[in-house]
Amino acid sequence: MTKTNFNDYKLSSELLKAINMLNFKSPTRVQEQVIPAVLEQKDIIVKSQTGSGKTAAFAIPICELVDWDENKPQALVIVPTRELAMQVKEDIFNIGRFKRLKVPAIYGKSPFYNQEKELKQKTHVVVGTPGRIIDHIERGTFDTSKIKYLVIDEADEMLNMGFMEQIETIINNLSKERVTVLLSATMPKDIEVLCNKYMKDPIHAEIEDQNPAIDRIYQERYTVDQRDKIKLLRDITIVENPDSCIIFCNTKQKVDEVYDELANLKYTCAKIHGGMEQRDRQRVMNDFKQGNFRYLVATDVAARGIDIDDISLVINFDIPQDSESYVHRIGRTGRIGREGRAITFVAKNETKFLNDIHQYIGKEIPLKERPEKEAVANSKQEFIEKINTAPEIKEAKGAQLSKEIMKLHINAGKKTKMRPVDIVGTLCNIKGMTAEDIGIINVLDISTFVEILNDKGELVYRELQKTPIKGRLRNVSKVER
Ligand code: AMP
Repeated sequence: MTKTNFNDYKLSSELLKAINMLNFKSPTRVQEQVIPAVLEQKDIIVKSQTGSGKTAAFAIPICELVDWDENKPQALVIVPTRELAMQVKEDIFNIGRFKRLKVPAIYGKSPFYNQEKELKQKTHVVVGTPGRIIDHIERGTFDTSKIKYLVIDEADEMLNMGFMEQIETIINNLSKERVTVLLSATMPKDIEVLCNKYMKDPIHAEIEDQNPAIDRIYQERYTVDQRDKIKLLRDITIVENPDSCIIFCNTKQKVDEVYDELANLKYTCAKIHGGMEQRDRQRVMNDFKQGNFRYLVATDVAARGIDIDDISLVINFDIPQDSESYVHRIGRTGRIGREGRAITFVAKNETKFLNDIHQYIGKEIPLKERPEKEAVANSKQEFIEKINTAPEIKEAKGAQLSKEIMKLHINAGKKTKMRPVDIVGTLCNIKGMTAEDIGIINVLDISTFVEILNDKGELVYRELQKTPIKGRLRNVSKVER
């Protein structure tokens, strides 16, 4: 019998509450296969695309199974890119929100020391990229002795990026008594070898997308001279007038160039490429997710795995030079069953790449004539109106979950010997509060952050103005999100 309801999995109330608030009505097909398998502590190999709900498929059972009381990390999720690490961390954090799970993400180009500090505290699930995970293991800042669940996400992408050896190094640092979940969109030989070597009687789950993105997305192409691309881009964006659009280029330089052109023309836009600081990349992705601007000019760093709903149009300003990348790029539109549009510019000397793509996707992308001058002129007014109105700001995925949670800052920390137990003791003495209402506590050097759940933030905030913690009245303030 196939499960159709999350209640069938006998999950704890904390998890069901989070799932409900995330608005997941019933398990997706990949979740139907993965959740029960992992709950039964079985290894599983999952062949599935992004957008299928695969992150929650492993996150739900892992959040259910980890023991809150254990201080050392119990699950490790390896992902290929920093962007994905941040996103997967957020997804797991949201699911484990009411169980108060701590989910640090560790990845390169970001201060080692901050990650080290996070790993020193209580953590439950660690998400990371291979290189940085190894750095932490080698420097003794990541204790893997209690890891019982290992997830290798986007295994084929890690293979493409040359991470296989590093993954083996990580696996060799883990206990053999563990559950391993491997997810991959394709199953090349090397991944099968890895599975045979490190997994125990794995279940094989293959989830065919019933209505794959490639069929849902309305695709077309234009033949264009290199030097005429910007002009074509202007005309097309005017005629299409999308609510949100990603423009893909093949190099950083081209991203800079196209971005400068659009910014000059007063498009609300931003750019993202691998040459930018991690912090800036993260900010741009978040702003785009929330709909702060309509046009994002990007290299392939934004193509894979990243979960942004509602992108109306993808434009390949440069045709991608490998066909898989075409599918990933256009897959940014038409998410979770929606329709989308993708337009590709093909310069005269790029027909080879176009032929490869046609072969790969098994059909020909229809060729379109560039928009007539008249059509562009007719659309211009509407285009200008849209470009001058701010996009509708979207709520972040976990925002609903955060609504009944208040984060408080207390001006005392490790330097004054503050410990989580001191905070818990004081809070539980407040009338109407129980341990269940206390979320994540983060004790830093000179300050402490504590989350108050279940809409009890105001009560606690009020009481702490007159209630001493560890013998002294402390300065307590609300943290604005
Ligand atoms: P993923 O395949 O992990 O990238 O997930 C794609 C999207 O589906 C994410 O935005 C999830 O929040 C969402 N999602 C995951 N599980 C469900 C579900 N059971 N129902 C509805 N949406 C879901």
